[in-house]
Amino acid sequence: MNFAIIGAGMAGILSAIKLTEAGLTDFTIYEKGEGFGGTWRENTYPGLACDVPSHLYSYSFAPNAEWSHQFSPGPEIKGYFERVAHDHHLDERVRFGDEVIRCELVDGRWHLETASGHRDEVDVVIGATGVLHHPRFPDIEGLDEFEGAAFHSSRWDHDVPLDGARVGIIGTGSTAVQIVGAVVDQVAHLSLFQRTPQWILPQTNPAITDDEKAEFRDHPERLTELHESLSKAFGVFANAVVDAESPEAHWIGVMCTQNLEESVSDPELRERLRPDYRAACKRLIISPNFYEAIQAPNAELVTEAIECVVPEGVRTKDGRVHELDVLVLATGFYADAFMRPMQLVGRDGQTLDEAWSERPNAYLSISIPGFPNFFMLNGPNGPVGNFSLIEVAELQFGYIMALIEQLRSGECREVCATKSAMDAFEASRVEAAKKTVWVTGCRSWYLDDRGIPAVWPWPFDRFRAEMGAPRPEAFEYR
Ligand code: NAP
Repeated sequence: MNFAIIGAGMAGILSAIKLTEAGLTDFTIYEKGEGFGGTWRENTYPGLACDVPSHLYSYSFAPNAEWSHQFSPGPEIKGYFERVAHDHHLDERVRFGDEVIRCELVDGRWHLETASGHRDEVDVVIGATGVLHHPRFPDIEGLDEFEGAAFHSSRWDHDVPLDGARVGIIGTGSTAVQIVGAVVDQVAHLSLFQRTPQWILPQTNPAITDDEKAEFRDHPERLTELHESLSKAFGVFANAVVDAESPEAHWIGVMCTQNLEESVSDPELRERLRPDYRAACKRLIISPNFYEAIQAPNAELVTEAIECVVPEGVRTKDGRVHELDVLVLATGFYADAFMRPMQLVGRDGQTLDEAWSERPNAYLSISIPGFPNFFMLNGPNGPVGNFSLIEVAELQFGYIMALIEQLRSGECREVCATKSAMDAFEASRVEAAKKTVWVTGCRSWYLDDRGIPAVWPWPFDRFRAEMGAPRPEAFEYR
């Protein structure tokens, strides 16, 4: 059997390692970028970090004794993925800079075509293309006329100096909050354009001492124990957000309110920073320094709505022009693209755009009816955002591997979820979503066009149990 893995980020590296472990070594990884690391390669903005503790945000099979901090910086995370990939000799298995543009099922095999014209024919495709990788540029009049430098947060232009510059940042999501804390001391003036305030949990980020690292090196089992205990602790948070009435969900609100009250001294600024929706309705932000940064003498929170961008900066609705040298668009991503714009053509010539004409959907976020032997990691409506995506992907790959084993054993030549299984899953998902904190009254990228959160709405244990083994009745075998 041979395989194509699309994407050389966290999930693609994982897939390649797990296939190799299973003795399935005939695979190629296709990566549109020029290196490993996915989101950690693409995002290079100042302050980039992961708000999942590093000892949890690591593969279970590749614990890392060298993490510098409890929440290590982005470049270190990218280095980790590169190292794991090199250690598993994946460099020679990747076609970097070659985007898969078409993938068509022909007589039970997937025919791939890349942007460079390369063609491949495989039995199984693993879609490990990530979720947040299509930047969402704001629809603001005049953006093209700005005379300074303007770029999206995920396309950071490192040739643009920040020292002494007047910098504007549009957005108050996880990305903007990290950037604000990282650049405020460097820039002459910082204007943060806030459309909606955010709830923020406090964060401490101690360095891991040399003694602790030595202890981890000498006793790797401590790393495994730490991974497990962090996973349990994180599970409490993940379970809280799927039950808006749980004491834990209310406790998160109390913690956030306390953080705001204690951290922001000016009552007027405090009120402008206070959200009017429940904590964790939007993806919860964890920050060690945002409130301090926004109170710096050179920082300004702009809550007046943006009217347009003018050559000198940003004009707000009150007529004021905020003069800027640099404008950062920390305005998020299109979360519903997944592997698109790749053309995916399944059984009977059905395209992915047709299958997803209403919105992206897949059974357990892994398998799409009519697209046999095409499996996704971190696909639509999966557990993004509130778990370690590495843990999620590892569990999903275990499930996919069970399907691959059915193909390998000759039990079938094609396998994909049935439409009825997907529809039943979707109906119960939509029902369960009504209890979650994400529907308590806010706008967020979790919500689909119906206002239903496109995520896993149950506790983590249920996800773990579901990933234990595929239910045969949910699949169509040929
Ligand atoms: P985001 O959460 O989607 O935030 C986008 C921000 O831009 C929002 O504040 C939004 O305002 C604002 N915005 C969008 N269009 C605008 C417009 N036309 N005018 C004014 N404001 C506008 O994006 P993100 O911060 O890049 O984060 C996306 C996700 O990436 C996160 O939720 C998280 O899952 C992931 N992430 C994770 C980490 C981590 O540490 N693990 C770090 C960064 C990002 P509204 O709120 O009013 O819509």
